Amino acid sequence: MLYQSTRNADIRVTSAEAICQGLANDGGLFVPERLPALGPDELRALQDASYEERAKAVLGCFLTDFSEAELQDIVTRAYGQGQFSHSDIAPVVKVAEKKAVLELWHGPTSAFKDMALQLLPHLVTTSLKKTKITDTVAILVATSGDTGKAALEGFKDVPNTAMIVFYPQGGVSEVQRLQMVTQEGGNVDVVAVEGNFDDAQRGVKEIFGNKEAAAKLAEAGIRLSSANSINWGRLVPQVVYYVSAYLDMVKQGSVEFGEEINVVVPTGNFGNILAAYYARLMGVPLGKLICASNNNNVLTEFLREGRYDRRRPFHKTISPSMDILVSSNLERLLYHVSGQDTAAVAAWMKSLQEEGLYDVHGAAWDGIRDVFWADWVDDAVTQDTIKTVYAQHGYVLDPHSAVAWKVAERYQEETGDNRVLLVVSTASPFKFNSSVLEALAPETLRGAADEFSLLEALAAKTGLAIPEGLASLRAKNVRHSLECPAADMESMVYKLLIK
Ligand SMILES: *Cc1c(COP(=O)(O)O)cnc(C)c1O
Repeated sequence: MLYQSTRNADIRVTSAEAICQGLANDGGLFVPERLPALGPDELRALQDASYEERAKAVLGCFLTDFSEAELQDIVTRAYGQGQFSHSDIAPVVKVAEKKAVLELWHGPTSAFKDMALQLLPHLVTTSLKKTKITDTVAILVATSGDTGKAALEGFKDVPNTAMIVFYPQGGVSEVQRLQMVTQEGGNVDVVAVEGNFDDAQRGVKEIFGNKEAAAKLAEAGIRLSSANSINWGRLVPQVVYYVSAYLDMVKQGSVEFGEEINVVVPTGNFGNILAAYYARLMGVPLGKLICASNNNNVLTEFLREGRYDRRRPFHKTISPSMDILVSSNLERLLYHVSGQDTAAVAAWMKSLQEEGLYDVHGAAWDGIRDVFWADWVDDAVTQDTIKTVYAQHGYVLDPHSAVAWKVAERYQEETGDNRVLLVVSTASPFKFNSSVLEALAPETLRGAADEFSLLEALAAKTGLAIPEGLASLRAKNVRHSLECPAADMESMVYKLLIK
């Protein structure tokens, strides 16, 4: 099976090439040219399988140029070596009648990015071998917090790779900063940029677009790549947990095999919910896919009205990983709902680039409306939801997951659709401890000395254990103290990569 660009059907590559390249040469995203099926028999066969085995089967559907031995090696390295603190890797927890939570945060950094970023590095190194590329792949990341740490954990000490993470000085939480500056691994560097996230992001994009930089690095045997969710290698591991969650719900007796469930996803770049869409197209019995947003509600408007309009103010919220105005992975959805109309996708993306908006009509729009539903909630309602769900069910939600929970309730009230709901939970409450404490025990926030006392206060309030990766930070040494102005990021890359 080959992959093509969302903007040009003549650009066709193997999955290994798609993963090495990240983005197609015309700026489009790589998509599978046809979708594999996972019918009832194939699904049933995975009923008693482990997460690793399920991952191997789903990856095998999409990465047809990888051998069985290669896939086995990749899934074992990602999920079979104790990096996840829960033996189910992505457990489904029944929280209320007809409502279960899919916990995607038992990985090393306590947020859902680990699900894909523990696997991506091994996909990249295997893809390099398969395409006979001998260069070192250097991953550059600009991060506002979660992605940087998850990528560092995934790529540390992975052969033939190097990584530099740029974060805005003063622009990440103290836990996030400590997670990054204490990072171990001989092939990774972390640099504080004097500026905000946009400055860091712009700096990285400029280096990616700079042909001279590419030539200079190529001479030293280095090629640049990206670990963000435009890479197909980030998306395909996310399809796995929808397959796995459905089978677990059957096992738990929450649904009959074949019965449809609805899924609610707290959404930013549209990667996670797009993976649910792929699982649905393959045949997993998923009904409505419900897109939950915060105050940055550009996707709610789009999925209700068919108009994507990024010309709006940017809001900082207590669910920061969803603070985003341009959801890159929507381009892949447009490709599929338009009947693989690459010219239409190219035109929409051009309109977004030049005018800041685009409109979707006709069959493509019907294809979206049939499957998706959307709503958003503000910070006050998010806090209130954390409090209410804890009071009613004793379950602690982080702010992102609380947004999804509230939208799930609204969906049921407004539509009367009573199918079982799977609420996707993307972060441990400990990762966003001050917002959670604000909702559950505001008195503990006053007088808290530092982030570690907040972690302890949350553990004391809820009886939950602090995740190991966060608890151990206090004792770790700072290993990275590089700083640079945004204008010097390019020379920093040469200094760190060209030895
Ligand atoms: C990245 C992230 C999201 C958004 O996921 P997308 O795939 O970008 O839609 C939601 N919650 C958390 C905690 C995240 O880290």
